[in-house]
Amino acid sequence: MQTLGDMGEDAVVARVLKVLNQKDSVVVGPGDDCAVVDIGKADTYMLLKTDCLVQGIHYESDSSDPFRVGWKAVARVISDFSAMGGIADHLLVTIAMPPDTSIGYVENLYDGMQKCASFFDADICGGETSSVPIGSAAVISIAGTGSVEKRRLVSRSGGKSGDVIFVTGTLGGSIQGKHLDFTPRVAEARWLTENFKIGAMMDLSDGVACDLPRLAEASQCGYRIDPDMIPVNDGCDLHQALSDGEDYELLFAVDSQIADVVVKAWPKIFSATPLTKIGELCDPGGGDRFEEDGWQHFNS
Ligand SMILES: [Mg+2]
Repeated sequence: MQTLGDMGEDAVVARVLKVLNQKDSVVVGPGDDCAVVDIGKADTYMLLKTDCLVQGIHYESDSSDPFRVGWKAVARVISDFSAMGGIADHLLVTIAMPPDTSIGYVENLYDGMQKCASFFDADICGGETSSVPIGSAAVISIAGTGSVEKRRLVSRSGGKSGDVIFVTGTLGGSIQGKHLDFTPRVAEARWLTENFKIGAMMDLSDGVACDLPRLAEASQCGYRIDPDMIPVNDGCDLHQALSDGEDYELLFAVDSQIADVVVKAWPKIFSATPLTKIGELCDPGGGDRFEEDGWQHFNS
């Protein structure tokens, strides 16, 4: 019997996608950071996202501050909206928790969610609560709608050979707590998509070693990477920077003709956030291959 653990996340998703099909109104379907739907508006598309945090996987059972866990739960969704060039609108929160969870814990969790939602002008407007058996892991799931101007929409699939690959911020060290406190790169993504034609973009949830091959494959490209250029977070090594995951930085590809313009303009707007060229897209079948994967769910 083949199990989810044998296959890994990407293979599991590929298998279940064979069962699904979409209507013509779906502009971008499964496999990107968000689904993109044409709802008949002249200038904008609707974005759809669902996401979950599992106790023991995405946050520690006992030691994680519930306020920060709540912030993270909403921030992950908003980060995915930003990866398409868009913003969040409305969110629904589902929690499934054991009955011996304290109400104070849950209140703090929702305080964190509301803080993040308010910061990014999103509304938490409904949800669902369920119990799980005592001793089982809690699950926090957030689904939401967002929107993106059609002219701004970026997917993972629009990159081409020769495009320069950039990453924002520094990478690695999520395990030291950064994964609970990150600020989604909404301002950065909105600025990029307002001022430049971005070929392909995603947010880094599973690490460059896992996510860059996904972006390259979606764009039907290979990739070359310069390990010396990876912006390694203080206290981390290159392996951690590539593989820890949960950086929630932007990874994007732009035409080499405009790459220098982006590099020159960036620090005037975002002086505190590095922008680093880490490589380029190339023809499929060529280029590099990471030997060490980023975080893949289901792999044991
Ligand atoms: Mg994502």
